[in-house]
Amino acid sequence: MKLNRRTFLGTAAAGTAALSAPMVKAASHGMPRVVVIGGGAGGATAARYIAKDSEGAIDVTLIEPTRTYYTCFFSNLYIGGFRDLQSIAHSYGTLASEYGINVVHDWATGVDRDAKTVALAGGGSVPYDKLVISPGIDFIDGSVPGWSLLSQNKMPHAYKAGSQSELLKAQIEAMPEGGTYCMVAPPNPYRCPPGPYERISMVAHVLKERNPTAKILIVDPKEKFSKQGLFEEGWQNHYTGMVERIGPDFGGDKVEVNPDEMTVSIDGSVEKVDVCNVIPAQKAGLIAEAAGLTDGNWAPVNPTDMSSKMDADIHVLGDASAQGDMPKSGFSANSQAKVAANAIRGALTGSRVFPAKFSNTCWSLIATDDGVKVGANYEPTEEKIASTDSFISQTGEDAALRKATFEESIGWYSGITADMFG
Ligand SMILES: Cc1cc2nc3c(=O)[nH]c(=O)nc-3n(C[C@H](O)[C@H](O)[C@H](O)COP(=O)(O)OP(=O)(O)OC[C@H]3O[C@@H](n4cnc5c(N)ncnc54)[C@H](O)[C@@H]3O)c2cc1C
Repeated sequence: MKLNRRTFLGTAAAGTAALSAPMVKAASHGMPRVVVIGGGAGGATAARYIAKDSEGAIDVTLIEPTRTYYTCFFSNLYIGGFRDLQSIAHSYGTLASEYGINVVHDWATGVDRDAKTVALAGGGSVPYDKLVISPGIDFIDGSVPGWSLLSQNKMPHAYKAGSQSELLKAQIEAMPEGGTYCMVAPPNPYRCPPGPYERISMVAHVLKERNPTAKILIVDPKEKFSKQGLFEEGWQNHYTGMVERIGPDFGGDKVEVNPDEMTVSIDGSVEKVDVCNVIPAQKAGLIAEAAGLTDGNWAPVNPTDMSSKMDADIHVLGDASAQGDMPKSGFSANSQAKVAANAIRGALTGSRVFPAKFSNTCWSLIATDDGVKVGANYEPTEEKIASTDSFISQTGEDAALRKATFEESIGWYSGITADMFG
C-alpha cells in the first residue's frame, strides 16, 4: 500500500494510540508512577531497572526504612572472618543520584488497593499505578517455643544481616574454651536453603582457629537439607568431630529454648549452651499480609511476570512470593525483579515485553578456598515457575575446582550488588 501524507498521519496516530494504550490510566496525573516497597535484592533491582530502562518515562519511588542495606549473602563470610562488615554494606545514593529514583526512608504500613496508595509510618501516602513489593521475610511467632523477637539479642537469628550478624559474630568469638554453639535450624520453606549450613561451616572455621575444643550442635526439624552431601563431606574433612546434627529422628523437631537460662531442650533433654542461634520458621514480610496479598504464609504470584494472584497491578518479588520451584535467594529475587520490571515497563509505556526466563545459583563457602554451588534455570508454566535444568558441585572435587568455584562467587557478589544499587 502506498502511504500518502494523509494515510501516513492516520496510521501513525493509530499506531501511537495502540502503543500508548496502557498509559491511559496514568494520563490523568501525567507520568506513570511505580512504587517499590523494600530496597533489597528484589526491590532495589526492580526500581533500578524500571528507572534505567524507561529513561525518565516512569516516576519511580522506593520505600525502604534503612539507609544501609547489609546483604545476607556473604554475611556468613563476615561471620567466618572472610569479609568485613563494610564490604557487605550498600547505600541507596546512586539509585537516587544516577537513576532519579525517589528514595523514601520509611516503613510502608499499609496498601489501599482501591485508592492505589501506600501508607507510610511517618504519615502521608504515596500513589501508584503499579506497585512492587519485595519485603523479604518475617518470623512466625511461636515456631520455636521460648523464643520471640524480644529474645533476639540473647539468641540472635542473624537471618537479616547487619547488627544481628555483628552480635552473632561477637558471641561466637566470646565463647568460653570448649563451649557449645547451637543452631536451631528452620523448617522448609525458608530464605536461602544452604544458608544455615554455610553458616555452620563458617562458625567451625572461626572456632577451629580460636577455640578448637568447642562444639557445634545443629538441632534440625528437617530430614535432609540443601547440598547435604557436600557440607557433610566438608565438615568431616575440615572440622573433624566438631559438628553434631540432631535431625527429627532424634528429636530435632521437638525443640524449646530458654533465653534467660541459655538452655535448649531437645525432646525433653535440656542442654546448656554458650551461643544459641535460633533461626525460626518464616513467612512473607508483614506488609504482604497487611496488603491482603498472602494465602497462608506466602504471596502467590503469576509465573509469567510475578504479578500477584490477588491484584494484577501489584508484583511480589523474592522471598515473600509463592512462585514455584525457585529457592528463596538473592539471585532468584534479582532474576524475578528483571522479569517484573520488563512487564511493568511494557504495561505502562508500551515497550516490548520479553518472555520470562529465570535463573539461580547459590554458592557456599565451606572452608578457605573450598567453595561449592547449586543452581538451575527456570521457565513459567501454567501453574508455577518450573525448573528446566539444574547443576550441583560434586563430592570429591579437587582443590583447584573448589577454589575456582569460590572465586566465581566473589565475581557474582560484585555483579549482583552493582545490578541492585548501580
Ligand atoms: C545467612 C544468609 C546467607 C544468604 N546467602 C545467600 C547467597 O549466597 N546467595 C543468594 O542468592 N541469597 C542468599 N541469601 C538469601 C537472600 O539474602 C534473600 O533471599 C534475598 O535478600 C531476598 O530478597 P528480597 O528482596 O525478597 O528481600 P530482602 O533482600 O530481605 O529485602 C527486603 C527489604 O524490604 C524492606 N522492608 C521490609 N518490610 C518493609 C516495609 N513494610 N516497608 C518498607 N520496606 C520494608 C527491608 O528493610 C529490606 O531491606 C542468604 C540469606 C541469609 C540469611
